[in-house]
Amino acid sequence: MESPKLFIPGPTHVTNEILEALSTPQIGHRTPEISDLIDYIVENTQKILYTNNHIYLASHAATGLWEMGTKNSVLKGVLHCVNGAFSSKWALSSQKLGMNTTTIDYDWGKGVNVNDIDKLLSTGNFDVLAMVHNETSTGAMSDLNAIAELLKNKYPEVVWLVDAVSSMAGVKIEVDRLGIDFLLSSTQKAWGLPAGFSICSVSEKLIKKSSLVKDKGYFLDIEVYEKYYAKSQTPTTPSIPHMFGFKKVLELIEKEGIDNRWERHKEMSSFVRSWGLNHGQELFPENGCESYTLTCFKNKLNWDINKIYDLLLEKGYRMDRGYGNLKGKVFRIPHMGNIYLDDIKEYLEKIDEVLCH
Ligand code: PLP
Repeated sequence: MESPKLFIPGPTHVTNEILEALSTPQIGHRTPEISDLIDYIVENTQKILYTNNHIYLASHAATGLWEMGTKNSVLKGVLHCVNGAFSSKWALSSQKLGMNTTTIDYDWGKGVNVNDIDKLLSTGNFDVLAMVHNETSTGAMSDLNAIAELLKNKYPEVVWLVDAVSSMAGVKIEVDRLGIDFLLSSTQKAWGLPAGFSICSVSEKLIKKSSLVKDKGYFLDIEVYEKYYAKSQTPTTPSIPHMFGFKKVLELIEKEGIDNRWERHKEMSSFVRSWGLNHGQELFPENGCESYTLTCFKNKLNWDINKIYDLLLEKGYRMDRGYGNLKGKVFRIPHMGNIYLDDIKEYLEKIDEVLCH
């Protein structure tokens, strides 16, 4: 049986063209060839993130990068903004690492609010701020601009860690203009690659901070990463198939044009929102925080989501039925990476067909 086309917010649909690139013959991981490949990925990712910061490639899930961010920066305390399942797990990871961890808790669906951050940072108890840009569990995308201004003007010493797992490469994030010290993502969302590989940008400020932190272990130590970054290598043997896939995706982005890519994601999100609202469904995220890469609907009309799921599967599509606490209460439609407006139209038509069933 052919695999269903994925319409879950990660792993997302990967085209055959990209899958084929993953099966490029292996090369040695301490050779000039790998350094050329890494240089290509780094330089092109810097363009996509509008940054001169260092770009690290990690052969594991993004969850590991949460810990790279905190382990290399927290001396005093970390303030976590929690507005969904992933931001909540990241805070848990800091607690489990024994860090002095405080959370600002929002109702799920809300965006992160700059005034709340200001109030807590003004206590002087925190040297690190951690937040998720695009909460995949709720479809809420927070505004980074106001937070960037706050940090620049009032808390320039604070290290800013941002999870962009489901927004990087689908939403324009200008790392240097915003002053984000650590921006992280895995590859199975808007990058449109298989899971199990991740990527981050690391500022000079964070690299310096890391050198002051003790007891950060070896595997995620930025000082170790820096040593290999200077040679255009990775500290450990990387997932070379992912790197070949990454190169292919970067070539495709270049061909599409970066501004066209940002526009495509916006266009798909507005198309999906209109479709759902026209059906009488309601958006889950708060007004003004709607994500460009996935749309989360409250199932206000009590559609039989499990039945729709089964019928879509019969037609060759894998649907999402909500995540974590929201399972069964919402459904999410991803529109990122290798999904284009025509794919979205095709998928929504299939949903319409099964609704008439
Ligand atoms: N952060 C966000 C916002 C996510 O959506 C996810 C996964 O869906 C993660 C982190 C965890 O990513 P990974 O499974 O690559 O560790």
